[in-house]
Amino acid sequence: IPQRFGWVGLGAMGYPMANQLLKNSSSKLVIFDLDQSVLHRFVREAPSGRVEIASSTRQVADESVRKRPTGKHVKEVYLTAETGLLAANTPGKVFVDCSTIDLATSIAIGEAVSMSSDAENPARFYDCPVSGGTAGAVKGTITFMVGMAADDPGFPFIRSILSTMGGSINPMGRKGLGLAAKLCNNYLSGTIALATSEAMNLGMKLGIDPKVLSDCLDKGSAANWVNSTVNPGKCFSVFDLSLAIFYTCTVPGVCPDAVTSKSYEGGFKVQLMEKDLRLAVEAAQGVGAKLVLGDTTIQAYHSAASDLEYRDKDSRVVYKWLGGVDPR
Ligand code: NAD
Repeated sequence: IPQRFGWVGLGAMGYPMANQLLKNSSSKLVIFDLDQSVLHRFVREAPSGRVEIASSTRQVADESVRKRPTGKHVKEVYLTAETGLLAANTPGKVFVDCSTIDLATSIAIGEAVSMSSDAENPARFYDCPVSGGTAGAVKGTITFMVGMAADDPGFPFIRSILSTMGGSINPMGRKGLGLAAKLCNNYLSGTIALATSEAMNLGMKLGIDPKVLSDCLDKGSAANWVNSTVNPGKCFSVFDLSLAIFYTCTVPGVCPDAVTSKSYEGGFKVQLMEKDLRLAVEAAQGVGAKLVLGDTTIQAYHSAASDLEYRDKDSRVVYKWLGGVDPR
């Protein structure tokens, strides 16, 4: 893999992903984030001599992996005159976009990247969003959804880079389909988390112990990731303790070490889940796919994200927004 990478965005996901890249390669990183304190913390914690701070995104544009929140931010990073990535010399460079943004912006940036170089030595841009949460990023087990074909001659190169940070690298077919897969993933995980919150809240109000309920749901037709990774057996057996520590549930206390039991701090912000659901609904409208649960689910996350008590908390805080109690 390349000896030198540019990296833009060291937030909840970008920070641990960049750490994994350092840990599993001998490459050097040139990093940039608007938040100066996070840049300095990263350098302090990294092996000495491996990381350099850039003064602007433009300076990062050697080989770039990026992790930024929304399409608007990503556009800024690439297209800002003079300081953006594409103001640099781009021929032959590879841009790997790991953010979850809208398809149109991603395609437009891909075209701008192609146009910034010549046909003989083209610059390339790939959508490579991720799933698996901040805990997965820390452990290096995240899943990448890559906007290219498995038999694309460039895929082994991209896979070699992404393998330093993730456990599963999935070529989805062509440009844009990495993002398309990510939107399907978050549409499903967002609705499941809301439905699990509702079911847990209902069961508890009817008098069932939350751990007993979670365990029982895991064995029936309602089994799902949000619930199954936190059933009491998994949470409390020594064998599965390492797993339990990293997974999330909607109800505080069902899994003592999960983000839900730590005031929903860290994890995947509720406003980011709202953003992804909106992107999924927008994409569905574009191709005439019916999403019956879309608007209702968006409203729930929007309402939670608009409340200062829940904004910036992990998205499973919708359980609290529903009025769910802390059983501890
Ligand atoms: P975050 O808000 O924690 O981090 C974003 C980082 O980008 C911040 O450090 C911010 O300072 C930086 N930034 C903003 N504007 C910038 C600019 N112009 N130049 C340089 N840096 C800038 O967000 P996150 O949770 O890390 O999410 C990032 C992306 O990853 C989003 O698209 C999100 O949907 C996606 N994602 C997040 C998770 C998760 O669990 N948090 C999981 C999968 C995918």
